[in-house]
Amino acid sequence: MYTRFKKHLINELSEITNDGLYKDERIIVSPQDAEVTLDTGQKVINFCANNYLGLSNDDKLVESAKESLDSHGYGMSSVRFICGTTDVHKALEQKIAQFFGTEDTILYAACFDANGGAFEPLLTAEDAIISDELNHASIIDGVRLCKAARYRYKSADMADLEEQLKKAQDQRFRIIVTDGVFSMDGNVAPMDKIVDLANKYDAMVMVDECHSAGVVGKTGKGVTELFDIMGDVEMITGTLGKAFGGAIGGFTTGKKEIIEMLRQRSRPYLFSNSIPPLIAAAGLKMFEMMTETNELQDKLQSNIEYFNSEIKKAGFDIKPTESAIVAVMLYDAKLSKEFAARLLDEGIYVIGFSYPVVPKEQARIRVQLSAAHQKEHIDKAVAAFTKIGKELKVID
Ligand SMILES: *Cc1c(COP(=O)(O)O)cnc(C)c1O
Repeated sequence: MYTRFKKHLINELSEITNDGLYKDERIIVSPQDAEVTLDTGQKVINFCANNYLGLSNDDKLVESAKESLDSHGYGMSSVRFICGTTDVHKALEQKIAQFFGTEDTILYAACFDANGGAFEPLLTAEDAIISDELNHASIIDGVRLCKAARYRYKSADMADLEEQLKKAQDQRFRIIVTDGVFSMDGNVAPMDKIVDLANKYDAMVMVDECHSAGVVGKTGKGVTELFDIMGDVEMITGTLGKAFGGAIGGFTTGKKEIIEMLRQRSRPYLFSNSIPPLIAAAGLKMFEMMTETNELQDKLQSNIEYFNSEIKKAGFDIKPTESAIVAVMLYDAKLSKEFAARLLDEGIYVIGFSYPVVPKEQARIRVQLSAAHQKEHIDKAVAAFTKIGKELKVID
């Protein structure tokens, strides 16, 4: 059998390559940071990590992880409900709830699992999920695992959301699900209007804060802070793998009874290992740091503003952004690929995105800002964009 299957895979793989969709992985041999060293020896400035607060290689987090190795050891060898819960896991869950102004939190190995296990335990065929068309793959998978009726609305389009809510009025329970920040354009979901519509059409709300937590809102508490609706949505999912230290781990935080039911029935929680205590310990430290001072959030904001204004001044077309994601529009797929490759030669690490990740004719380079970036990093990036932009006749 495998001879035949192998041939089949080789064919599919070459199709992926011919379509220009094959993903190569670049190898980093240094810690994740504003500057990283590649296995080629090249040092580059990193503008494509989700390291929004610059905490991936933070001394204090590394230190607290090391301390935890001494106090709590390495692994848990268990799911949470058998013998995988430590005092540190519980403390982190409480800390996350405190941070988001919610009632309780459940930890998962990743936000992919939080989203994957969010719906099936709570809703049945009698219910409805109304989901933004650009929601993350893990939300889409989570919705698929649940028998509830599915309604999809055009991204951040409130008229369409209202249409879908009307259609879903016969179902027993309804939940609207959205990403807080959309990862390709960097725009935020209009949470104030979503909550209004939820109230009008008797629905609940779930928001995925992966790209917004730590980034948007005055103190980095995400879109519910930005829209002044903290505590008003039923469920928030998020990751410890982006702004919050960048290691691994996800969570759902929200109404107490929902969290309690997820602990009883959510399959990625019940049947998958506990996060290691060192991750929980560093996570706790991270939330302490974030609440003691607003330094990192402020630094990130000023970096975002600086890059946006400089790249516009240089003549580039960018999507309006409300996050640390900036889409520098080049529209053409080949051009985006070549532009990113040339930027790497200049020591700027970014990724070009094209169809099917973004719509056709909407190819772009996505730049992700970090609190770890210094002004010189951003100046170098803008200078490199300008140089390549002129060479490739994108700007005058
Ligand atoms: C990154 C991301 C996830 C997955 O998070 P992990 O913790 O890495 O699994 C889920 N949802 C959104 C919107 C994301 O951006």
